[in-house]
Amino acid sequence: MTQVDEQLIQDVVTKVLEHVQSGWGGRVAPTVGKSAAAPVSAASAAPTTAGNRFGQFTNVDEAVAAAKAAQAALMRRSLAQRQIACDLIGKICINQADELGRLEYEETRIGHPPHKPDKLVLAARIAMGADSIRTECFSGDHGITLEEHAPWGVIGVITPVTHSLPTLANNAMNMIAAGNSLVCNPHPSGKRIAAHGAKLFNQAIYEKLGIDNLICVITEPTLESANQIFTHRDVSLLAITGGMGVVRAAMRSGKRAICAGPGNPPVVVDASADLDNAARCIIEGASYDNNLLCISEKEVFVEASIFEPMMAAMAKAGAFQLTTQQMDQLARICIETGGEGSHPHAKTEFVGAEPQTLARQIGVSVPPSCRLLFGQTDQRHPFVQAEQMMPVLPFVKCDSFEKAVECAKQAEHGFGHTAVIHSRLVDHMTYMGKEMNTTIYVKNGPSLAGDSAGGEGYGSYSIACSTGEGLTTPTTYTRIRRCTMVDNLRII
Ligand code: NAD
Repeated sequence: MTQVDEQLIQDVVTKVLEHVQSGWGGRVAPTVGKSAAAPVSAASAAPTTAGNRFGQFTNVDEAVAAAKAAQAALMRRSLAQRQIACDLIGKICINQADELGRLEYEETRIGHPPHKPDKLVLAARIAMGADSIRTECFSGDHGITLEEHAPWGVIGVITPVTHSLPTLANNAMNMIAAGNSLVCNPHPSGKRIAAHGAKLFNQAIYEKLGIDNLICVITEPTLESANQIFTHRDVSLLAITGGMGVVRAAMRSGKRAICAGPGNPPVVVDASADLDNAARCIIEGASYDNNLLCISEKEVFVEASIFEPMMAAMAKAGAFQLTTQQMDQLARICIETGGEGSHPHAKTEFVGAEPQTLARQIGVSVPPSCRLLFGQTDQRHPFVQAEQMMPVLPFVKCDSFEKAVECAKQAEHGFGHTAVIHSRLVDHMTYMGKEMNTTIYVKNGPSLAGDSAGGEGYGSYSIACSTGEGLTTPTTYTRIRRCTMVDNLRII
């Protein structure tokens, strides 16, 4: 190859990179009106700070101030640069999934280690990009009106221990795509992996775009630091993922809160179902990461006429059957009865435990290949009523399909989260869907399919069932602003 050819190729590569980084191709960024500042390219922008914090803060005021400066800098950049920031987060989740997944498990000690890298890859793949945000338009005799989705500014974020870094990464991608920055108070038992991940994300964004601290993490999170975020005047919106306690606390703050609260997803299996498929799907969903996911199957209601064949199908598909007495015994060890007005709940030390560890508590030995324990219980059983987050699934025999749906509705406790049916009858699917009124409703698949893993559509690590936004996307983290041009610009 000659010198000229190499130079030519180099010039083309430089132009393409400029185009990707600036979002303006070879052109100068357009002047936005007379007084508005034009977006700046990554190359010409002054860095927001010395780039030495990378989102690590112990003090909430300092974190919010840094996130505020970072968000202001982001607003001066093109949409293409926002997307670059999101892609950098996604790439780190995918390329470093093994290492980050291992670190997450070593810190939290919950769930199934081989699933930890998968969850990070998923967090990156299911996020929608900046281009998913749509502008609505009204055009008529009196001109044109646009409704655009603007960022809120700094978002206060709470993440759960069950998926500390995947939730932070997925939230950050959605929030930055919409032009926001965030300050996260992670669960204390997942704080190190959250801080480490945020450091990697901020470093990569700073190196590429010169903006530090888009993702700030309180490295020593407490309930007090959470409350400081909830009430901080420069935090415009709260995004909560966790149990009912934190959802209630955020809602009391007086700020708008998008809350991805708890679930207790029931499954109904009717007499028409393909039992082998139902068993495979239930095992896949309920055993994933040892049942830590909020969408995972938590209890099963089966029509009486197929109850015994369904139990046989579960055993055939590899789940380990406990007797009713063993289910009672295990519940006494692993589940605490709720106080006045609250449901029973899992004891922390058994959340996300392996089935072998759980079986050992009652002197039962199960093969290493087994991913799920199951057994018959009644409707009031603690394993039915609690969001157990462990791979033990109660099966309840119901006199009729309608009774099974009634039991499922009671067990879901009105969280409005997720429900699953296995049936070949469309009228049963429709009936249950109407009765349950959940955010996610999966037919003839594992619960995971409702969050895009094996089903169609996008996904999210924060399913805002408590406040109704559904599976969160970049648009969820925007506020609508209207721009009206009177009597003009309609070109028809
Ligand atoms: P958790 O409620 O114990 O903690 C969640 C977060 O809230 C943590 O960061 C914790 O430190 C904080 N927190 C708890 N009480 C608080 C309070 N009073 N004030 C301020 N902060 C508080 O839950 P977890 O064990 O970490 O996670 C599991 C729960 O989260 C389950 O109930 C699960 O269903 C739910 N979850 C829901 C979704 C969803 O998308 N809907 C996703 C993941 C987890």
